[in-house]
Amino acid sequence: MTPPADPAAMPAPPPPRGRPEALFPLFADAVKLPGIGPRLQKLLEKLTGPKVVDLLWHLPTGLIDRRNRPHIIDAQPGVIATMEVVIGPHRAPPRGSRAPYRVPCTDETGEIILTFFHAREDYLRRTLPEGETRVISGEVEVYGGQVQMTHPDHVLTLDEAAALPPYEPVYPLTAGLSGKVLAKAIKAALERVPELPEWMDAAWARQQNFPPWHQAVARVHEPTDLTGIEPRDPARSRLAYDEMLANQLALALVRARMKRSRGRPLAGDGRLRRKVEEALPFDLTRGQRIAIAEIEADLKEPYRMLRLLQGDVGSGKTMVALMAMLVAVEAGAQAALMAPTEILARQHAQTLAPLCEAAGIRMAVLTGRDKGKAREAIVAAAEAGEIDILVGTHALFQGSVAFKDLAVAVVDEQHRFGVRERMELSSKGVAGTDVLVMTATPIPRTLQLTAYGDMDVSRLTEKPAGRKPIATRALPLERMGEVTAGLGRAIAGGRQVYWVCPLVEESDVLDVAAAEDRYAGLKATLGARVGLVHGRMKGPEREEVMSAFQAGDIDVLVATTVIEVGVDVPNASIMVIEHAERFGLAQLHQLRGRVGRGTADSSCLLLYKTPLGDMAKKRIATLRDTEDGFVIAEEDLILRGAGEVLGTRQSGLPQFRLASLEAHADLIAAARDDVELILNRDPELESERGQALRTLLYLFERDEAIRYLRAG
Ligand code: ADP
Ligand code: MG
Repeated sequence: MTPPADPAAMPAPPPPRGRPEALFPLFADAVKLPGIGPRLQKLLEKLTGPKVVDLLWHLPTGLIDRRNRPHIIDAQPGVIATMEVVIGPHRAPPRGSRAPYRVPCTDETGEIILTFFHAREDYLRRTLPEGETRVISGEVEVYGGQVQMTHPDHVLTLDEAAALPPYEPVYPLTAGLSGKVLAKAIKAALERVPELPEWMDAAWARQQNFPPWHQAVARVHEPTDLTGIEPRDPARSRLAYDEMLANQLALALVRARMKRSRGRPLAGDGRLRRKVEEALPFDLTRGQRIAIAEIEADLKEPYRMLRLLQGDVGSGKTMVALMAMLVAVEAGAQAALMAPTEILARQHAQTLAPLCEAAGIRMAVLTGRDKGKAREAIVAAAEAGEIDILVGTHALFQGSVAFKDLAVAVVDEQHRFGVRERMELSSKGVAGTDVLVMTATPIPRTLQLTAYGDMDVSRLTEKPAGRKPIATRALPLERMGEVTAGLGRAIAGGRQVYWVCPLVEESDVLDVAAAEDRYAGLKATLGARVGLVHGRMKGPEREEVMSAFQAGDIDVLVATTVIEVGVDVPNASIMVIEHAERFGLAQLHQLRGRVGRGTADSSCLLLYKTPLGDMAKKRIATLRDTEDGFVIAEEDLILRGAGEVLGTRQSGLPQFRLASLEAHADLIAAARDDVELILNRDPELESERGQALRTLLYLFERDEAIRYLRAG
């Protein structure tokens, strides 16, 4: 992969077409603000983002109370105090001494010494002229019985002090950037805040006590009391709501466009689906039947389908996908199934092959491994309509493959899929096709709304009948010897084992080293056939090992978390997770889901390092208590907080800067309802409020969605 270009080295892109002029000052580079030079700009870019608006979104996390105004005699050590004092004679340290520069000050009750290290005398003489009165503010210390203050936060004249706000915001910082400098930059940014047309419903704003936008922005940075930094403060809630409203509106516009974009009504006669059902060694679950019915209904409509199929590992999504694809084939068209990796594509093909055969339809698989003539033959057959179902990796479908008549596309394991990618998929990837996205990541409802608000959702909540529970046990690492002895017996009995090694502090080099050590160790002690896969292996190399494991030629597969997604080896019935305390709950659940797919009793052993922290204890307890992915996902959300649940970046989840999914969950639902009303009344955002809402989309840089308006 090519590294991303350094944004600082590139010329600024032109403003997006249609951005309202009122917003121009907010989208100027922060370097344009007074007092911000190139050095500071670099730091700001790292901390907040490069634009003026990014400074506005950087909210204080604490407050300094400047209201404490004691006399010197009453000043408490360790407390911030603001005091009016008379400056005494300076005591500069002798040349070459490391002693601090001292300035004694007095009021009628006593003396306080201001101390400065590495002081610049001329500067101090200017700001602290002898004999004059100044207001100082900072933390009081007592040192050897003497009241003092090291590097006061403020030294002000009486006039300046009158303007000192009672509470001072404290911002998250980065190395090299002081709070004072950042606060000044944010103040300058606040002066650029325009009054914008109100996009909020007036009655709702009143009910919620929301101030107008420009007031809200000022208030969150200049809180007048301690509640001002709480997430449910009205000003903060207002901004959070704005952000979620923009998010929901953008998603809804994409969705509306999807719904509008003409698809074709697809209806099959059911003959292929009946044949497949007869060939199945099991009955479809109720959940599978419901999901299939929902998909059939979508396909019948003359609009595009964009549906998310959410089902825990092992819940049987592939069968639902097959039925969806068969509707297309029954209707005389083609279908495609895209998997994220080569091995998963091949696995899908393997599962589907006997069923397709039973139904008498033509299925082919195409991955990066197919080259030359073989590849050309498949591509040509797809183009000629001689293949009914084509299974492959995502990459293949982004390139040259053309279909005669592709009606249904199924995208597997795409929890790392953003709104932007979905727009692309719909606009050029497979235009005109109905899309079913399958994910094995159980997403809590609150998150689902923000990440997939634009999709219809089917959920498979139950496991196929006959699945045995996975016996989950937690053991301290010290008992690893017993565990390996037990494994030896299980392997002798024909079982296969996954052994997962953890991430080592974000360093995949160490990761791999740990996995390699474990691999060598197990090979030596077990004398069994042990294999190793890790993230730094090349794709084909890794897939070779995985295939060998699948084929039963390997007894123990030592792996880093690369096995997390999708792989189905029913004979593997034991999962060992080393340093389980380092994994997140959802991740442990995904890993455990690799076993329990066959007829044998399965077990999952969580090896942990003692002592266990509270969080790790809770995670392990939850895992022992339930195998329900949705319960686990909700618990995970509570334990870790939303941003981390899916790993915000990779998941394609929108990154909220002002809204917190924990604190503002109810507001997300409200924003969703609000958007529904808005678009019912004014689908093209043409009314006065509609125009204001367009500004909102630009403000939160969700303006891509505006392209989806007819009049936009
Ligand atoms: P996932 O949802 O993780 O993709 P799969 O579709 O791979 O799950 O299904 C997991 C296993 O369950 C497969 O071996 C599949 O054949 C089997 N399976 C699917 N549906 C059922 C069912 N209704 N009853 C029993 N087994 C099923
Ligand atoms: Mg699957």
